[in-house]
Order: sequence, then structure tokens, then C-alpha cells
Amino acid sequence: MFESSLKQLGDALRAKRISSVELTQSYLDRITRLNPQLNAYITLNPEMSLAQARAADARIAAGKAEALTGIPFAQKDIFCAQGWLTTCGSKMLHNFASPYDAHVISQFNSAGAVNLGKTNMDEFAMGSSNETSYYGTVKNPWDTTRVPGGSSGGTAAAVAARLCAAATGTDTGGSIRQPAALCGISGLKPTYGVVSRYGMIAFASSLDQAGPMGRSAEDLALMMNVMAGFDERDSTSLQREKEDYARDLSKPLNGLRIGLPKEFFAAGMGADVAKAVEAAIAEYKKLGATIVDISLPNSKLSVPVYYVLAPAEASSNLSRFDGVRYGYRAPEYSDLADMYEKSRAQGFGAEVKRRIMIGTYVLSHGYYDAYYLQAQKIRRLIAQDFTEAYKQCDVIMGPTSPSTAFKLGEKGDDPVQMYLSDIYTIAVNLAGLPGMSIPCGFGDNDMPVGLQIIGNYFDEARMLNVAHQYQLATDWHSRAPQGL
Ligand code: GLN
Repeated sequence: MFESSLKQLGDALRAKRISSVELTQSYLDRITRLNPQLNAYITLNPEMSLAQARAADARIAAGKAEALTGIPFAQKDIFCAQGWLTTCGSKMLHNFASPYDAHVISQFNSAGAVNLGKTNMDEFAMGSSNETSYYGTVKNPWDTTRVPGGSSGGTAAAVAARLCAAATGTDTGGSIRQPAALCGISGLKPTYGVVSRYGMIAFASSLDQAGPMGRSAEDLALMMNVMAGFDERDSTSLQREKEDYARDLSKPLNGLRIGLPKEFFAAGMGADVAKAVEAAIAEYKKLGATIVDISLPNSKLSVPVYYVLAPAEASSNLSRFDGVRYGYRAPEYSDLADMYEKSRAQGFGAEVKRRIMIGTYVLSHGYYDAYYLQAQKIRRLIAQDFTEAYKQCDVIMGPTSPSTAFKLGEKGDDPVQMYLSDIYTIAVNLAGLPGMSIPCGFGDNDMPVGLQIIGNYFDEARMLNVAHQYQLATDWHSRAPQGL
């Protein structure tokens, strides 16, 4: 049952071969057994989960089930969920019980899905290893001495360890794709604006995008059908016709043009990662695809550009955490200014403070033109590179991460090394494009390798088709960590 796809689970529930309460209880038992060693979940609330499961069973009995009704999912702790603690991985929000649901959460709720719990994450989604979480690091289920990636590392570990059927993540610079790669699962960051950001705690608003993380492209398609759609409460939500993301899954890939950016296959990528990615490209050729050499000349600037723009937006977004309205307040202070200072000094961790300082600096008078404005201009050039590339190809492929999962603590003292682990993912966010990662083999140390598939705007259905056809021909996505 823990290996079943969302479709199989939905069929079993609707045929009443299993009830949602039984399914939810089995997952909760598995979480009780395995979470202490993995730390994938921050908050569990079995009573609330089982109440949702009972409601789902009633809905199924009434013949009103939808595709995901009764299936247990996990939600990244960045999404506000009514009645649930929503911490965003921070001490600042350690006591924040959300009074309302994020759009993504209400979409899952109206589909009748069950929320198993809130998953661990880097503090305010800033990180690539989950080591910045106030709630402790998450362990990679393939090797618990290694990181799961970040910032959606709790979600990635929970999916890989079969502690939920599938789960949500968010991706500002790679936080769905990189942990998906490091934990051997599939993840999709949609086109910016496709999934509403309402109720998703903001990191860098022009880059943040929620998306599904699961064990297969087919599962991701079913989740996209629930998550995507216009929401007037998010001013960047796009008004588009509702689409069925599973509609093209079974299309053959004959004639598909895959662009390989020369910049992604240059120095920097580990030899073991290169080997797995090249084998995946060879498999695509067998499936009928043709290869086109392309160039994304400005992509090398994406890490520096991102580390100006994302902190700038974060410094503004995080100003709301002042100890007054919600969250942590320092127990002792002398006056109002002192209360702000102490609450923020004690409530935020080191990485968050670093970002706030960088962001405040690049936005300050005298530096704005030199850094922020310049970075915005290069952002446009990075996006234009993709527009040019898509004149020659249908999808772009490359590695998701330069290496497989690294050891816990390995990059802790060196933020720049940590930032470079997103070298292949960040340009996609800067351009607002959809990107995904699917498992494509194992590297040295037997850790999973991710293949990145980047699509043109709104091409999610095609990307899911491209991923699904590969998953029909290979079995990397169905491998599970042993010994759990
Ligand atoms: N690792 C990147 C960062 O630290 C991206 C994080 C994300 O996508 N949320 O900002």
C-alpha cells in the first residue's frame, strides 16, 4: 500500500477495498515509527487527520469522491492551515496557529484529501540542506548521515520514506527540485502564477511558487489538477482556463526536441551526476527524442543575481515579524524599539539574519542602482536566453544539482558553497518558467541523482508527459530507501 500510486489509492478507496481512516492510521503508525530518526515532520495532529479521514469516508460512501478524496498528504510548514501550527521552520512562528487556510490547503481540503501533518523545512525556506530549520535537521532516508536537500527537505524525506502518499513543496530558487533530486523523488515547480501564493508565507514574492512532490510524474499531474487555478486573493495568480495536467501523459515522445545547454554540462557537475544524466538523455533518444545543443549564456549569473534579489524581497517580507502581531516576542525589553530588536534578534536564525542584512544593504540609498537595479536587468537577460532557446527546442534538460546529497554539516560554515548547490535551478525561477526533477539513477555513495526538465511557460502538461514516458521505460522512480 505504501508503494501504491495516487491513482491506485483513489481506486482502492472508491472501491471500498480500504477506508481513508485505515489508510491514514497506517501512515500515522509508520510516521510514529520512523519520524524520530528522520525528523521529516514538525507538527502532527492525528485527531485532525483522522477527522478528515472520517469525513472523506463519508463522502466516498455518498458517491461524491474526487480523484484525491481520502488520500493522506503532507503539507510543507510554509502553508497556513487553519488550526494547525504553521512555523515556517522558525522560532519566530513557533506558536503561530493559523486562523485561515492557504489557497493550496483549501484546494486539498475541498478535494477531500487528508492532511497528515506539516513537514520540516529550512527556516523561512532559506537553505539547500534543511540545516537552517529551528526544529533540527532532516535526515536523508537513503543515508541518515546526509542532508535531504532544501528547503522542502522534510517533504522530500517524507515522500521518499513513504511517510505520506505525496506532499507539497515550494520553490524560490530550487527548493522543490533540489530536495526531490537528493531524495530520489519527483517534483514540479510550476510556471510562476499558476498556483496561488495566498497563505503561503512569503520569502521572495516574485520567485516563490508552490508545487507538488511525489513518487511519479503521474502523481504530480493529479496533484496539479487540484493545486493550480486562478485565485483572486493573489494578485500574481494567472487567470487561465482550467486544464487537465494528466491529459498528455500517454503521448509518445517521437520528434521531441530536447535542448542541452552547454553551460549545464561544463565543469562543476560531479562525474557521477554527469554519468546518470547522460544515460537518461540516451534513454530519451531511444524514446524518439532528438537532441539540440543550446546555450544559456547568462545562466552563470543566476546565483549572484538571485542572491541580490531574493534577500532584497525577503528583507521587506520579513519586516512583518516584529513581535507585535504574531509569533515570538522577547520576554524582556525596555521600550518599543528594544522589543522589536530583541524579538527579531532572538526569533530569527543566522541564515535569515544574513539574508535580511544583505537585502537591506542592496536596497539602501546609494547601493540600489549598483546592485538591485543591475540584478533586475540581468534577470531579464536570463529570461531572454530561455526565450531564444525555446525557438529551437521543446524542453531543456540537465542536472538538477551538481552533486548527490552531501553530508550533514559539510557545507555549514560556507554559505557560498551552499548557495552554489542551486546553480542549475535558480535561473528557472528568475525567468518564471516551470521546472521539474525526476530520479534518473544513483551516483557514488549510492545516492539518488535528479534529471532536471525545464519547460516553456505553461508547458507543465508536456513536461509531465516527458517525465511519465521516461518513468514507463525505467524504474528509478520506484526505488525506495532500504532498511526503514
Ligand atoms: N536554496 C535557495 C535559498 O536558499 C532556494 C531556496 C528556495 O527555493 N526556497 O534561497
